[in-house]
Amino acid sequence: MKLSFIIPSWHYFDDPFKLQPYWELYYATILREQLAERATIDLIDLRGKSKNIKDFSNELQNIEESDYYLYWVMKTGDAKEVYSIVDFLKSKFPKSKHIAGGTHIDMLPEECTEKFDTILVGPAEKNFKEAIMNNHKKLVGSYSTETFENTPFPDRGLLPAKSLFSKEMFKQYGDYNATMVYFSRGCFYKCAYCVYNVPNKLQSKSPKMILNEIEYLKKNFKTEAILLKDEIALNPNKKIFHPQMDAIGNSNILWRGQTTSVGSKEQLKIAKETGCLELSVGIETVDNDVMKIINKTWQSDKIIANFINNAKEIGIKVKICLIFGLPGEPKNIVEKTIKFIETYKPDYVSLSGFCPIPGSPIFKNPEKYGIEFIDKDWDKHAHLLFRFSDQEEVGLPFRYKKQSHLGNQFSRDQIAGNIKQVQRWLSTQSMTY
Ligand code: SF4
Repeated sequence: MKLSFIIPSWHYFDDPFKLQPYWELYYATILREQLAERATIDLIDLRGKSKNIKDFSNELQNIEESDYYLYWVMKTGDAKEVYSIVDFLKSKFPKSKHIAGGTHIDMLPEECTEKFDTILVGPAEKNFKEAIMNNHKKLVGSYSTETFENTPFPDRGLLPAKSLFSKEMFKQYGDYNATMVYFSRGCFYKCAYCVYNVPNKLQSKSPKMILNEIEYLKKNFKTEAILLKDEIALNPNKKIFHPQMDAIGNSNILWRGQTTSVGSKEQLKIAKETGCLELSVGIETVDNDVMKIINKTWQSDKIIANFINNAKEIGIKVKICLIFGLPGEPKNIVEKTIKFIETYKPDYVSLSGFCPIPGSPIFKNPEKYGIEFIDKDWDKHAHLLFRFSDQEEVGLPFRYKKQSHLGNQFSRDQIAGNIKQVQRWLSTQSMTY
């Protein structure tokens, strides 16, 4: 039996090789162990191909026949492309079966049932194999039994090393060979714009697996630095945090990651001792009222300021991630944001446009947030606007009511104008990368 995992082009990224297809590698590794000699498995990496349509269609033509094509669709922005790949392969290889899991499938199971032969909702450590061995239309995994704690780390030998390791990922810190890892998955918060809090708890890797993975990366790929893609790299549970940090610290590797603004000074000190160079925090807005509307009530401008100050004192660089176009934004959001940045001086800032992601509380209940229209063309569901050029404008696929219970709201053009203005200002401050 022949299986092929398809990695989409990630057409919304300027450089799709700055990140790695972790989940495709992860599930391919697990499947290879489970199916052993019963199957061969390869990965078809289409990253970067769709910018050049000719190359992309050649690339699709070059795909060989497999019994099963597998997909892990994390972002809705990939959905249309993946659907078209499925259509293309089904017409070329009518006997082929197409199995998909990932956040987009979790959030839109009805739509995805129409597109794939089998959909996998939730974790798929058991269900990819089950879907291959037996015919199912839909399988639902359980996070209570699939805990992520001791599952294998992805085999980075499944793709060419040059596509999985990059010196670009840490270029602001030096010439380090780096790749991406997850030492936990999920998040226990419920921000109204988010779908990446699945499961709605933190499932953490055991310290032993962390140590093993880093040793493997260092020994086999001369890895010098890792990017923790965990939603919350500084685990608030001390019983998990300390052994995890010990494992990273004992591995003698540099790292950066993302976390929340409630990370404590003690945690930051320990992170620094274990090789942490930078933490990015998804603060999203500097306006306390907007934080309440998007259910980020555990955060405030004071908490953010405290986090930035602590990190700077300890010597960890801070990147803050902001979203413009959130519901209830005040008219002076541009001035307010610039003033906040000038006052607290984070090292880097990443600014995105708001995208009502399918499955998020805002998408499910747009009236509550003053939204009158959401575009269902998933290709328009991107959030990176005007970072590297004024042409980079895909995003903001929705419209607010002019007047709502949240007050006077911005039009799409006004939000785009605000983003452009602040992106330009940030690049003059050398705060983006
Ligand atoms: S935005 Fe971040 S903190 Fe909020 S729910 Fe999502 S993953 Fe958790």
